[in-house]
Amino acid sequence: MLSLGICFLHRKTWSNLNWGWQIGIDLLHRRMPTIFEKICQGEIPARFVHQDDLCVCFHDVTPQAPIHLLLIPRKAIPRVEQANAEDQALLGHLLLTAGEIARQQGFADTGFRIVINNGADGGETVPHLHIHILAGRKLSWPPG
Ligand code: 5GP
Repeated sequence: MLSLGICFLHRKTWSNLNWGWQIGIDLLHRRMPTIFEKICQGEIPARFVHQDDLCVCFHDVTPQAPIHLLLIPRKAIPRVEQANAEDQALLGHLLLTAGEIARQQGFADTGFRIVINNGADGGETVPHLHIHILAGRKLSWPPG
């Protein structure tokens, strides 16, 4: 009976510990701004090509094509599936802005690719929704 009680207590303590640990990790993630938030706030320099109230666009530090831009919302939405109905206009604004930037930067006519790497299997490394805009060379398909 006593050992059953200890076992039950043990399980409860263990599950409370797990729960606490998960909350700790969530809070840590929430408190730690990503590199893109720091770029948005001007804490880390970037070569901007566009800035407005809702989004910013700048050159990728490791370009994969002659032109490689990152277009990100100022709002820190980690991934596509974490966006909600409230973000509908913002998501539309990002695509319209991508087209506007392509025209302004002079690669709309030759063509370009827009890519969102989403989650671990998608190849995402920065958990802040971002659109890669690649241009300036013929891009192959399918991607690796
Ligand atoms: P992901 O791999 O998440 O789809 O894209 C992240 C992109 O951010 C990568 O292409 C990477 O080169 C770029 N990147 C990471 N850190 C920085 C930075 O500090 N400045 C700029 N401009 N780009 C960055």
